[in-house]
Amino acid sequence: MAQKNYKKKSSKKSSGGAFLPSLLATMVIVVVILASYFVYNTYLKEPEPEITIPEGSASVHYIDVGQGDATLIVAPTGETMLIDAGERGDAAEYLEKLKIKTLDYLVFTHYDFDHIGGGDDVLELCEVKNVLASDYEPHNKTGKTLITLIEDEGANFIHPDKGYTISLGDIQFEVLTKALTESNKHSDENENSIIMMMTFGANKFLFTGDAENEREEEIIESYGKKLNADVYKAGHHGADNASSAELMALVTPDFGVYSCGVGNKYDHPRQGAIDRVAKYAKTILRTDLHGDILITSDGEAITYTTEKTTDTNPNIGLTIMYAILPEKAYMAA
Ligand SMILES: [Zn+2]
Ligand SMILES: [Zn+2]
Repeated sequence: MAQKNYKKKSSKKSSGGAFLPSLLATMVIVVVILASYFVYNTYLKEPEPEITIPEGSASVHYIDVGQGDATLIVAPTGETMLIDAGERGDAAEYLEKLKIKTLDYLVFTHYDFDHIGGGDDVLELCEVKNVLASDYEPHNKTGKTLITLIEDEGANFIHPDKGYTISLGDIQFEVLTKALTESNKHSDENENSIIMMMTFGANKFLFTGDAENEREEEIIESYGKKLNADVYKAGHHGADNASSAELMALVTPDFGVYSCGVGNKYDHPRQGAIDRVAKYAKTILRTDLHGDILITSDGEAITYTTEKTTDTNPNIGLTIMYAILPEKAYMAA
């Protein structure tokens, strides 16, 4: 018995003796791991590519959502607007990456799937204060569900008429298209698109959604030479029945931006639509080739950068995307 007890004690003692060194060893391993992690993060890891939006500049992010549209605008003071939400979750992912939790304005130019499919994810991620949309009954289930989600969100739901203006910090937006009535409601939903002009200091950006020649004609008649803009986002992803020669002669853009998917089945952008824009625009940017496109304006000059470079345009293609936004853009309401 005594021997047994002794043995027991002895074995206990010896196990205690092994425990301490193994604890020490574990601690050493943990310290080594933590130290290596610190060294890796501090000295070895490639830094996350970052773009800091210069103070006082507005930023316009043409998000690569494949075949579809989603454009984020951030005011120098941090207010935010998203025009369309793409087809899938890309727009929400992009907003999440930029830590945006509030949208002052969410605009749906029209209810086609490639503009609203990602709307539910955006509404889930962000608190949305105001929603702008054309007043017509969507043909698709997604559109009908989206309207319910907007109402549930408790956002102001606005169907703007021509001349409706928005101040997003120091940025002004004006709606150029008439509100829909029974007489101008179109069976081709693209022609129901809301068209908006953004003005920041001396710079102007034109957003036409999927408007085609008839809706373009409407704004040509109403605004004429006032349609002059620095940056033109090509209507309907560069379809041939948008970006008419007549419209381009008035807009005379310096930059043409096309939002379209790689190898899309519509063959967007069409060569004709590229040529009509490129007649004026020296810089053509395309989400299918360049990925996410970031254009900033200080109110005088416009600068741009893109996620990817291409052989045909080696001058662009600084690697983004991790934009540092004005502080307010991060804040939840
Ligand atoms: Zn579209
Ligand atoms: Zn459309």
